[in-house]
Amino acid sequence: MTLSRDSARLSRRAEQLKASSTLAVTARVRELKAAGVDVIAFGAGEPDFDTPQPIKQAAIDAMLDGATRYSPIPGTPEARKVIAEKLNRENGIRCSPEDIVITTGGKHALYLAAQAVIDDGDEVIIPTPGWVSYVPIVQLCGGVPVEVPASVDNDFRITPEQLERAITPRTRAMIFNSPSNPCGTTYEPNHVRALAEVLARHEQIMLFSDEIYEKLIYADFAHLSPGSIESIADRVITLNGLSKAYAMTGWRIGYACAPAGGKDDNPLAKAMARLQGQMTTHIASFGYAAIVEALSNGAEAVESMRRTFARRAERMYALVSAMPGFKCPRPTGAFYIFIDVSDHFGRTSPGGKRIESGLTFAGALLEEANVAVVPGEDFGEGCDKNIRLSFACSDENIDEGCRRIDDWLGMLS
Ligand code: PMP
Ligand code: GLU
Repeated sequence: MTLSRDSARLSRRAEQLKASSTLAVTARVRELKAAGVDVIAFGAGEPDFDTPQPIKQAAIDAMLDGATRYSPIPGTPEARKVIAEKLNRENGIRCSPEDIVITTGGKHALYLAAQAVIDDGDEVIIPTPGWVSYVPIVQLCGGVPVEVPASVDNDFRITPEQLERAITPRTRAMIFNSPSNPCGTTYEPNHVRALAEVLARHEQIMLFSDEIYEKLIYADFAHLSPGSIESIADRVITLNGLSKAYAMTGWRIGYACAPAGGKDDNPLAKAMARLQGQMTTHIASFGYAAIVEALSNGAEAVESMRRTFARRAERMYALVSAMPGFKCPRPTGAFYIFIDVSDHFGRTSPGGKRIESGLTFAGALLEEANVAVVPGEDFGEGCDKNIRLSFACSDENIDEGCRRIDDWLGMLS
C-alpha cells in the first residue's frame, strides 16, 4: 500500500513546534567543522571538559557487571537515595528517595513535571530571557506560557512586583532558573526569598525550579533552592541533572524531586514515574552507578571546573564589555553572556548583510567571521536584540573568537 498524501500530514503540534535553536547552532558548527571551516564556537551550552574518569569507570564497571537490563522506572533505590541525601545535605530540601524520579536529562525532568501538573489552558509564568525549551515544553503540555520580561538593568531578575502582576486565577505554575541560561546571572538568596513570599500567597501555583547550573556560581553568595523555603516547599519541584556540573551532557541524566505534599504515597512523583513509564521507561541502566559515583565523590572535580569557568567568565566579559555597542551584565553563574547588540542595527556587514536583529547579526557573524553565537530570538519576546555567547571553551578560543568579533564590528558600515 502506498501512503496517501494525507497520511504524511503532520499534527498541528508537530507543525507548530520550533526546533531548539541552541541545538541547531551546535549542529551547524559540527557541519562547518566537518567541512574544514575554522569556526570558533561560542554557541554550545555544554562544558568542553570530558566527564571525570572515575564517573566513566563506575558506568563501565556497572555495565560489565550486568547493569544492562530494565531497571525500576524512577531509578534504582541506591541512586534515588544518593540524590535525596544530596538534596537534604546541600540544598536543605527535606525529601526522601521516594520523592526522586531520575530522568533522561534535565530537559525531560521538566517535561515530566509539566506533564504531571499542567492541564490545557493553564498559565505558566516564565521569566525571560529564559531557556529556549521552556515555552515549547509548556505548549506541548497544552499550557499557556506567560512571559515576564526581566530588565538588563536588574541583572535580568524579575521583581516580586512583576511576579504578583503576572499571576491570574489561571496561573498553575512558574518556571524559575538560577543561575540563568541565557543570562549568565543569578538570583541571590534575598531575591529568591522575595519571590517565594509572593508565591506563598497563591496556593494554586507550583514552582518548577531548574537548578541545573547551581554548581556554577562565580559570586560570593550561595545558591538558595526555593524547595528549602518552608512556606512554599510543598509546591516546589526541584529539577537538576549531571549534564552541566559533571560535564555529562551526552549521558542524558537528570532528576526531579517532587514534594510529597504531606501524603504517604507521593502522588506527584508517582505521576511523573507513570508518565516516564509510557515515554522513555528510564535512563540507561549503567547510568545509575555513574550518579552514585558523581554525587558521592565528584565534588572536587566539579569545583575545579567551576574555578576554570570563573576565570573564563572574567576573561570573556572583559573582552566583550569593551566592544563598541555591546551591553551585557557581568556573568555570575552558568557559562553564558547575553549581549544586547541593538546599537548595531541598521548597519551593513562587510559581506553586505543588513543587521537588524540578533538573528541577522549571528548569521552574518558566522558566515563572515566564522564565530558561532546563539541568536537571542528564542529566549523570549524582545530578546531579538540579543545574542548569547558561551564561555565553555578554551582561553585561546575566547581570545581568538573575541578578536574576530571585534575586527568584524570594526568593518560594519
Ligand atoms: N535547563 C537549562 C536552563 C539548560 O540550559 C539545560 C541545558 N541543556 C537544561 C535544563 C537541560 O539539560 P540536559 O537535558 O542536557 O540535562
Ligand atoms: N541547554 C544548552 C544550551 O542552551 C544545550 C542545548 C539545549 O538543550 O538547549 O545551549
